[in-house]
Amino acid sequence: MRKIHWITLAIIISIIASCSYKPTIEELKRFAATEVYPEDSYLDTISNKRALIIVAHDDDDCVMAGTIAKLTANGWTIRQLSFEIHNTPGENRNPAHLICEGSEKILEDELYRLGADTVKYPYMPIPYEEIERIYLYDKVAEALTTRIQEFNPSVLFTFDNIKGGYGHPDHIFISQLVLDLFNEDKISAQLIYQGVITRHMEAEIDRWQKPKMEQWGYPQPGPAADKLYGIEGIPLPDVQITISDQAETKMNYLRTYPESVRKNFRKFIPYYEEFDAELYFSIFDREFFRIIEKPGKEPLTEMAT
Ligand SMILES: [Zn+2]
Repeated sequence: MRKIHWITLAIIISIIASCSYKPTIEELKRFAATEVYPEDSYLDTISNKRALIIVAHDDDDCVMAGTIAKLTANGWTIRQLSFEIHNTPGENRNPAHLICEGSEKILEDELYRLGADTVKYPYMPIPYEEIERIYLYDKVAEALTTRIQEFNPSVLFTFDNIKGGYGHPDHIFISQLVLDLFNEDKISAQLIYQGVITRHMEAEIDRWQKPKMEQWGYPQPGPAADKLYGIEGIPLPDVQITISDQAETKMNYLRTYPESVRKNFRKFIPYYEEFDAELYFSIFDREFFRIIEKPGKEPLTEMAT
């Protein structure tokens, strides 16, 4: 009983510590991209306006939600596929319908990672060989190939396959698997858009996150992934997409998830609940993508099977 009280107190303190501080606009701007990339010019030229978002967890597309909403507004048909779906409280669906046609589970039984329930920190990076060993590659590949071929998208949206955003093995696994299917010509999409952030954004978020994670007693995944994979961060973007017109929709999307997800967003999307949508996304007014064209011009990582 006593232990539970201490845990409750610790949770309350951490909630107060993480929520009560509202930075100035200048402080918030420190997290925004200082880099400029060419505005995307490919998506407007595509006639088959169909895309699939393929992510491990439904909320992973928070880095690209503005772009998805923008494409939907421009007549695209887009669906979200993921292993995990977090329904909006009181609803039998997740918030994906706010930015696209909605979401679907890739696997009914949700079993894609062996031993997942025994891992203390499932978000921490592990070697690529380990990913190959513990993830159910063939099962997921088969389920995804069928779905993708049925939907017939021209574009696939995923995380990057090298670092999976911040090193979560689920992200790396599924992004690499989609890239493999694409490069092996098993699916008919023309392009993969990998949602990334810029080096400046990544460095600032890591720097800001470090003392918080230490304080809470959690290992920090981003720097650990850089070290493990011998990289300097996530792959660099090729293009940017301006999303200021989607500010309200994107903010609504983020805030419609249940608290368990919004709490995670707080670690990667600094202070998004402390500002109104228009102001917040006038600072974070662009989303960034690495584009992979067919046939695969990017070198495959060691994980490819
Ligand atoms: Zn995730």
